[in-house]
Amino acid sequence: MDYIKKIIDNLKLYKTAKDDDIKILIENNNRNNYLYKTADEVRRNNYGIYVYTRGLIEFSNYCKNDCFYCGIRKSNSFVSRYSLSKNEILDCCHEGYSLDFRTFVLQSGEDLHYSNDLLCDIISSVRHNFKDCAITLSVGEKSYKSYKAYFSTGANGYLLRHETAENEHYSKLHPKEMNLDNRKECLFNLKKIGYQVGSGFMVGSPYQTTENLIADLRFLQELMPDMIGIGPYITHNETPFAKFKNGTLELTLKMISILRLMFPYALISATTALGTINLQGREL
Ligand code: SF4
Repeated sequence: MDYIKKIIDNLKLYKTAKDDDIKILIENNNRNNYLYKTADEVRRNNYGIYVYTRGLIEFSNYCKNDCFYCGIRKSNSFVSRYSLSKNEILDCCHEGYSLDFRTFVLQSGEDLHYSNDLLCDIISSVRHNFKDCAITLSVGEKSYKSYKAYFSTGANGYLLRHETAENEHYSKLHPKEMNLDNRKECLFNLKKIGYQVGSGFMVGSPYQTTENLIADLRFLQELMPDMIGIGPYITHNETPFAKFKNGTLELTLKMISILRLMFPYALISATTALGTINLQGREL
């Protein structure tokens, strides 16, 4: 039996592997089909053939942060900015509900216009109007107290991708004011409060090494999130990273397959690799 096949079989069996073996898997392509097939079997055993849909409402693209890779970073003056009122968000939920969506993801940049009081008001209105729906938030890094308030008001889930789990790499992708330890602490706080937590990382981001990807997997093993979302890094022209190449679909699919073997229970998003349409009709 060849060694790569053995690594894949063992990853399925033990849900983990030595760093050296994961590195071989990431850097070699001659057993990709077997990796995909094995991951697909695990997916079918855990989730059947079902695809769970989420109604994603991107309610604001303002952000106070300046992540170097992001198209809506605060320094990008070419973006046309928008933010939705509570009623506009509720309208999106009504439309989504009529289309059979039963999970709403309220997502925005870190927009200071939405105070804790306003966010709690929005969450409680969605909760009041859509009692049988799950509400997932994706509004960035907040204090423990804020997360607790959103949870008490009716939010169930929270998405916060760590993007990269290794300090030196993190500092190459973010300005000095941003801090990986804080982001990780946010994720553990969310778990402690009782949220269904989602995290994840970019594949093929600038300066990323195989070791960085392995660190991402190890961090997820520590966090044990309920949901994992990864996607290829996509270059945006109006960022300091305009000259970098996109992450590849092949490496993204490979990382999704490795994640499926390591986290068979997790809800793993297909949207970022394959494209989907949110409730406002824009391609994600
Ligand atoms: S915090 Fe999120 S939305 Fe804001 S700049 Fe960074 S990646 Fe973009």
